[in-house]
Amino acid sequence: MARKKEGSGHKYIFVVGGVMSGVGKGIVTASLGKILSARGLKVNLMKIDPYLNVDAGTMNPTEHGEVFVLDSGLETDQDMGNYERFLNRDLGPEDYMTSGMVYKTVIERERNLGYGGKFVEAIPHVRDEIVERIHAAAKIGGTEVTVVEIGGTIGDFQNALYIDAARLIHLKNPNDVIFVMVSYLPVPSTIGEMKTRPTQHAVRELNSYGVQPDFIVARSTHPLDQKRKEKLAIWCNVDPDHIISAPDVDSIYDVPLNVERDNLSGLVLEALNLEEKQPADLQEWKEFAGHAHNGKKTVKIGIVGKYFDTGDFVLSDAYLSVIEAIKYSAFDQDVKPEIHWLNAKSYQTDPEKVSELKDYDGVIVPGGFGESGIEGKINAIRYVREHKIPYFGLCYGMQLMTIEYARHVAGIHGAHTTEIDPDTKDPVIMILPEQAEKVAKKDYGGSMRLGAYPCELQKGSIAHEAYGKKEISERHRHRYEVNPDYIERLEKAGLVFSGTSPDKHLMEIAELPREVHPFMLGSQFHPELKARPLDPHPLFTAFIKASLEHQGH
Ligand code: GLN
Repeated sequence: MARKKEGSGHKYIFVVGGVMSGVGKGIVTASLGKILSARGLKVNLMKIDPYLNVDAGTMNPTEHGEVFVLDSGLETDQDMGNYERFLNRDLGPEDYMTSGMVYKTVIERERNLGYGGKFVEAIPHVRDEIVERIHAAAKIGGTEVTVVEIGGTIGDFQNALYIDAARLIHLKNPNDVIFVMVSYLPVPSTIGEMKTRPTQHAVRELNSYGVQPDFIVARSTHPLDQKRKEKLAIWCNVDPDHIISAPDVDSIYDVPLNVERDNLSGLVLEALNLEEKQPADLQEWKEFAGHAHNGKKTVKIGIVGKYFDTGDFVLSDAYLSVIEAIKYSAFDQDVKPEIHWLNAKSYQTDPEKVSELKDYDGVIVPGGFGESGIEGKINAIRYVREHKIPYFGLCYGMQLMTIEYARHVAGIHGAHTTEIDPDTKDPVIMILPEQAEKVAKKDYGGSMRLGAYPCELQKGSIAHEAYGKKEISERHRHRYEVNPDYIERLEKAGLVFSGTSPDKHLMEIAELPREVHPFMLGSQFHPELKARPLDPHPLFTAFIKASLEHQGH
């Protein structure tokens, strides 16, 4: 095969994992995106999930973490959220790929005689579909570099086809493609020193696919010392300067700054045969990231949720975007958030327990599905409404706020959602009509009301004031909505629907007037999905401001 001399086309960086999963490959990928954009390059980020689900929408958040929804409505992995947040821009559906998607396309093509009577095989057909998808994503939006994270760890059966696709792209464009291996270096407590051997094995395993890493990001509890750097360099055939130390950090937002200390962006430009660009401009990011460390005032936020049975680690993953959105708005107000997880079920079994909410500056009920803890959440909402504690309801949190108001203020005592009680006599929250058909057919995958929809705000409302404009677009993921038959009664009782779809059919925001409550607002959409480090979300900021004002009351 003819090898091109000069790298000329689009550049690709493939990020693969060595030794074990869960060591922060996604954050390294997002950080590469950040530091290369800071050099003035137009960068795209892509995630490959090697499981057979067609999207992340059918997975339980306790198994897989939060489902992150793009503008297009595609339900993706939480890494895509980190990518958007680090890059500060929206990504498209072509930037996410699962094996389910890839196989579905290949099988549908086969069914349509698209392979002209040939055998259809994993190699070349499935692999070539992967290559095509990667190239297709690279063509969109005039980007110059695509960083592709291949999910899983080297040696997994499931990601082998993706590594082979990357190998092929490299083979055809040797000067335009590099591989970054994010590996783990354990420091066993009985030995007390960092071990490089598992990483050496991981590199050999990668070599057995015909791939040589250009960089190794050495994740560990400790920084990598010179001796081990040299050892890895010799055993893995990697330039010692290309072995980047990445010890554990308190805040993920420090990672781009830390890897830049080793001049990672400069070395990557060189390895990709790109001309030297402007120095990485990370000033704004540095200021933002610094907020995580300074020990100023705090704001105490309670999140009343339900995914409590599987331990804290998974819990924070299930609500990742909510936590990050709170941080950005708190940092923007020069405070640090102190987030507490409050178990909705405990407010159900012991209704008196809700009085602990008086110690919080603000309370959030996030998105959710199903019956678990729902009456506990409603008890909590009643308490914060009656005690004028700032409240922010996200999707389910807005629906439950509406039910609480209906039951206890508007006198609609039997108010409920048909999600929990299909025969309720007062279906204040009911299934969207087009959704009912889908659910009846068990058509669950990718079938909710998903992605970006426009919303119009009522002049003078809290929402309008927060956004500073009348037309907004926000991301959705729901099947149920406020029942139009109850709107008049709810409004008469004082609830304000300050955001609606442009045709006024769907209620997007419910709020109480300032004179009645300092901040009681719920959105049918998920504002947390659009909150960005350098562009905090206006509703979260309004909520944090109200929480700070409430402090000490
Ligand atoms: N379960 C509710 C619905 O489907 C809320 C969904 C959510 O909070 N994302 O409408």
